Amino acid sequence: MDLEFEAVYKGSMGMQDVLNNELYEAFAQASEIVYIYVCDMKTDLTRWSENAVDYFNLPGEYIYNTAEVWMQHIHPDDRAVYLEDISAVFGGTRAKHNCKYRALNKYGNYVWVECKGSVIKDGDGAPAVFAGIMTRLDGQNKYDFLTNLMTLNEFYQNDFSVGSGAVMLMGIDDFRKVITSRGYEFGDNVLVNLAKLFQSACGDEMQVYRFGGDEFLIVKRDGTLEEMTALFERISGEADELKASDGQMLHIEFSGGLSFYPADGTTKEKLINKLENSLGYAKQYNRGHLEVFNQEIAEHQKRAQLLQEDLKNSIRNDFKGFELYFQPLVEREDQSIIGCESLLRWKGEHIKDSCPMEFIKVLEDHGDIQAVGQWVMEQALLHQKKWQEKYPGFHVSFNVSYQQFMNEHFVEALIQKARETGVETNNMIVELTESSEVEEAESLAQVFRRLREEGFTIALDDFGTAYASLQMLMNLPVNYIKIEHSLVKNLAEPGHENDYIIIENLLSLCRRLGCSSVVEGVENEVIENAVKKTEATYLQGYYYSRPIPEADFDAMLEKNRGR
Ligand code: C2E
Ligand code: CA
Repeated sequence: MDLEFEAVYKGSMGMQDVLNNELYEAFAQASEIVYIYVCDMKTDLTRWSENAVDYFNLPGEYIYNTAEVWMQHIHPDDRAVYLEDISAVFGGTRAKHNCKYRALNKYGNYVWVECKGSVIKDGDGAPAVFAGIMTRLDGQNKYDFLTNLMTLNEFYQNDFSVGSGAVMLMGIDDFRKVITSRGYEFGDNVLVNLAKLFQSACGDEMQVYRFGGDEFLIVKRDGTLEEMTALFERISGEADELKASDGQMLHIEFSGGLSFYPADGTTKEKLINKLENSLGYAKQYNRGHLEVFNQEIAEHQKRAQLLQEDLKNSIRNDFKGFELYFQPLVEREDQSIIGCESLLRWKGEHIKDSCPMEFIKVLEDHGDIQAVGQWVMEQALLHQKKWQEKYPGFHVSFNVSYQQFMNEHFVEALIQKARETGVETNNMIVELTESSEVEEAESLAQVFRRLREEGFTIALDDFGTAYASLQMLMNLPVNYIKIEHSLVKNLAEPGHENDYIIIENLLSLCRRLGCSSVVEGVENEVIENAVKKTEATYLQGYYYSRPIPEADFDAMLEKNRGR
């Protein structure tokens, strides 16, 4: 005990009694999230437990005029609540202090605390000591550390078996892109600002929870479809107007899912499941909008489950159900077949009609694209080996997603397998499918350089439609670009003269950059006639052949050999 404290302390036996009490020491060390304070009301000197001094970075164990010092630690928005309560206690109009607010910790973050205290009177009945405990609520997982919204844990305390109402889940569209382009700290700031926006839009009659990364959950007792739709629109509108700390507009967009209790379920698990599926459905088919759980979403959910199970079973059973189809790549000038693109097909035990766009997305979402991608790569190499022996100089291309390129094992396995198989790597074309996914162009460029050293040819798929195509072309060492079919679809139709000018110039630019090019989507003679006049290197499309199984493709090659 320091001297100054002892000097002041003499006149106030009440406080000493409290501090001398064995219980004080026991409580003061009881828990990391419970803090003790004892205040002499006559001298306004407070003793804090050591864990409080440490965690809240207080000037010392003994502090005069605590209310003022402590006030600096309280979140500005919560100061009025604290002041009202503590003034009533010190003013003698309230015997017990009980209030929740956010306090600044040593890490510079505000955490929710619950502060409870009582006034102890001296022998004459005058208020002598104010003592109490402060409990940190984040330790109980009640409030989210970053946004201070309630956590999912708190959501689970709701009882949906009584009454009725609405539950809405709102998720930010493409939040990952915000983080990738501006960093985690910036992303955290956006979330904090959005949390404030949610709280002010929802007021006291609704509860807002942070559901996870970039998703927010709202519960409204007796909430109706009209009310929730209006709320969704309001929050979306305000989020779209949100500005970053540097004053720039952020244009945050939300998709949402909505369900009602008891109609959609009376347990949290059921409601959450429906909300997640509605939100997933909105993100996939109706971005930026609110989807109310319905039969269509239920069926979609069932199919997604079956699809995933079927895919897992196929992978487990030595890739049963997977097959490569081949589509010819033809010379622009004489339409002779110089190679092919390998395109993946799949039939599951229950799901027999899934297109690559659908099942490849599921594979990517669940990390299974690595296993299947490896299988595709091995198959493509085996086919290349077979055809290069029969048709010297024959090209085989196969599709590789950004995720796969970023996997070192995949790249090394490709190089290793190519050596083992003895394929001519310069006739092996590796296509980057979704360039919009590229987050680290420099790392990808390194991978490409490594593959080019080994002789592989690299193609950029979907050129012209994908995000930042030109930037990709400038930053990545590629040998080929593939012009997407949607760009040539209307070529040679009246009113689309500009399409031709753009494509013609794009292809000429490629040639001048030393890049070869493939025009995809040549579906008919009209398109063929138009693209034949350009500087495209190769053509591909239904006009020559749809993607077909190996045996059919072999027969086609035999026929073409005569040409
Ligand atoms: P992609 O790489 O752009 O492949 C070309 C797509 O265009 C193929 O669709 C092909 O069937 C289609 N196509 C070909 N000619 C024409 C035409 O004249 N008109 C039209 N409208 N379409 C034409 P498919 O086979 O459904 O594949 C879709 C996408 O799935 C592919 O687009 C590719 O991104 C992805 N994919 C396919 N196989 C694999 C694979 O083994 N691995 C990975 N990662 N992705 C793959
Ligand atoms: Ca492709």
